Amino acid sequence: DYDYIVVGAGAGGAVVAARLSEDPRISVLLVEAGISNEGITDVAIPLMGLSLTPNTMLDWNFTTTPQPGLNNRAIAYPRGRLLGGSTSVNYMVYMRGSEDDFNRYASVTKDSGWKWDHMQQYAQRNENLVSPGDQHNTTGQLIPSQHSTSGAISVSLAGNPTPIDSRVIATTRELSDEFPFNPDMVGGNILGIGWSFASIGNGTRSSSAVGYLAPAAGRSNLDVVINAQATKLEVTGKVRNVPSFRRVLVTEKAGAPVLALTAKHEIILSAGTFGTPTLLQLSGIGDRNELRAAGVATVVHNPSVGKNMSDHALLPNVWNVNSSDTYDSVLRNPDEFKVSLAQWTKDRTGPLGSHITNNLGWLRLPKTASIFKTTHDPAAGPKSSHFEMLFVNMWVNPNVPPPPTGNFMSVVLALISPTSRGSIKITSSNPFAKPLINPNLVATDFDIFTLVEAVKAAKRFVSAKAWKGYIQDAVGGLETAKTDKQIEAYVRENTNTIWHAVGTAAMSAKGANYGVVDPDLKVKGVDGLRVVDGSILPFVPNAHTEGPIYLIAERGADLIKKDF
Ligand code: FAD
Repeated sequence: DYDYIVVGAGAGGAVVAARLSEDPRISVLLVEAGISNEGITDVAIPLMGLSLTPNTMLDWNFTTTPQPGLNNRAIAYPRGRLLGGSTSVNYMVYMRGSEDDFNRYASVTKDSGWKWDHMQQYAQRNENLVSPGDQHNTTGQLIPSQHSTSGAISVSLAGNPTPIDSRVIATTRELSDEFPFNPDMVGGNILGIGWSFASIGNGTRSSSAVGYLAPAAGRSNLDVVINAQATKLEVTGKVRNVPSFRRVLVTEKAGAPVLALTAKHEIILSAGTFGTPTLLQLSGIGDRNELRAAGVATVVHNPSVGKNMSDHALLPNVWNVNSSDTYDSVLRNPDEFKVSLAQWTKDRTGPLGSHITNNLGWLRLPKTASIFKTTHDPAAGPKSSHFEMLFVNMWVNPNVPPPPTGNFMSVVLALISPTSRGSIKITSSNPFAKPLINPNLVATDFDIFTLVEAVKAAKRFVSAKAWKGYIQDAVGGLETAKTDKQIEAYVRENTNTIWHAVGTAAMSAKGANYGVVDPDLKVKGVDGLRVVDGSILPFVPNAHTEGPIYLIAERGADLIKKDF
C-alpha cells in the first residue's frame, strides 16, 4: 500500500507526486492513463506543439457538444494524455495570473492562503527563469526582480525574433492610451501589452514531466505507472460518519485486467478539468439525477460536480502580410522545415525552438461600455482584463487549416472574463464512454459584446502606422465584418477555445451550499479524497492556465504534507 495515490500526471499531479515524495517517509504512486513523454521528439520541440493535438495518440480526443453560441458548431477539445498531461502538448505560454485572481479565490473560499501575496512563495518554487534560446539581450523585456530562478519549470522569453515583434512594441508607443506597454506581466499586474514568457529552457519544452517528474525519477518512494487509467473510486468504510474513498480501480484499457489499489492516507485526483469530475461521477459523487440517468448509484449527492466550467474562448484573426519571414513557410515547406530542424538539433535555436507568440497583452473594455448598464463587471478586479490579444507570426485558426500559399500574421483574441458557464457529465457507467463536454462558449450578452469589441480593438491595433506596408488584407471574413451585427456573425462563425477550461470541481468556503472541494482541496462530504488540478479553480484566471495550476498544486502539496 502507498500513503498517497495520485491520479493523473499533468500540471497538478506531477507537482503533487514530486513534492510529496521529497519526504522519504512518504510513499507515493502516480497513475497516468497515457504514455511516457520520453523519447517523443515532437513533444520536446516547442513549435511542434502545434502538431501534437487535436485528434492524435497524445490527445484524449474529446469533442464538445454543439455550442449554441458558436452557431451550433461542435469543436475538438484537446487534453494531453501522457506524462506531463496537457503541459506536454500545450503552447507553453507562461504566467501566474493577476493579483485580483488569487485575491478573489481567497475571498470566495474564505481562506487567505489563496491570496496573491501568500501564493508568491509557490511561484518561487515553480519558476526557473533562464535565458531565451537565442541568448538575446532581454533588457526592457522583463523585470528580473519579479521572477524566480530557483523553481522546477524553466521559463524564458521567446528565443526567436520575428518581424512583428518590433511593430507590436511600436504600436504600444503610438497608441499608448489604448494599448500601453507592460514591462512584465508575470508579477501580477497584467494589463497592457508586452513580452511573452514560455515554459521553455534551452529551446526545449519544460513540461511538468520534465521539470518535476524527471528529477524525482530515482526516488525509491515514488512509483509512476503509465497506461493506467483510473476507472472508479471505491468506498472503503466510514470515517467521522462520511464515506471513505481510499481505493481506486485502474486498468490499461477496456477489457484489460483491473487492479484495485488502496491508499493509506489519501487519493489525490489530478485528472484535470474533464478527468476529475467524470471520475467523481463514475464513483457516485455528483448530481443524483445525472448519476441515475447514467446508471450509477449515488453515494454523495453533490450537484456542483461537473458544473461551473469557465473557459477562455479564442477568436483567430488573420491578415496577409508582406513578408516571407513567417512560420507559415517553415511548417509548410519541407526544405525550410529541414533547415529549421537541423538548426534546432544543432543548438536548439531558430523557429522550432520558440513558442508561437513573442508578444501578448491583456485589455479591459472602457468603463463607459454600454454592456455595464446591464451586466456587473465580471473581471476579477480593476487590475484584471476582459480580453487578451496574442500576436502570432503565422496563420492560426483551429477551424481552418493553413492555405498552401501565403504568409500571415494572426491577432488571436481570447475572452478572459466570461460570464458563460458550462458543464461536463457522464452518460454511462462505462469509464471508457466519452462524457458530454459543454463549455457553453459565448452564451451570454456580455461574452458576445466583449468579443465584438475585441475585434474592433484588434482592427484599431493593426491600423497603427507601425503596420503600414507590412499588413495587407484581412482574410476569413474579417475584412467585410464592419457593423456590430456583421462582426457578431463573424465571431460566432470563427470562435473556438484556447483550451483553458477550469472550475468543474471548484473550491468554495467550508460549509458553503455549493462547490466540490473545501479550501484545503478535500472533497466535500467524503473522507480520503482531494483534488489538485485545474478543476478546483472557481473562475478562469487572467493567464494561460498552466502557471496558476502549478501554483495551486505547489500549495496543494504543502496542504497535504501538513496533514501527513
Ligand atoms: P492536465 O495537465 O490535462 O493533466 C491531467 C492528466 O490526468 C493527464 O495526463 C491525463 O492523461 C490524466 N488523466 C485524466 N484522466 C485520468 C484517469 N482517469 N486516470 C489516469 N490518468 C488520467 N496553458 C498555458 O498556460 N499556456 C499555454 O500556452 C497553453 N496552451 C494549451 C494548448 C493546448 C492545445 C491545450 C490542450 C492546453 C493548453 N494550455 C495552456 C492549458 C494547460 O496546459 C492546462 O490548463 C493544464 O495543463 C491543466 O492542468 P491539469 O493538471 O488540470 O490537467
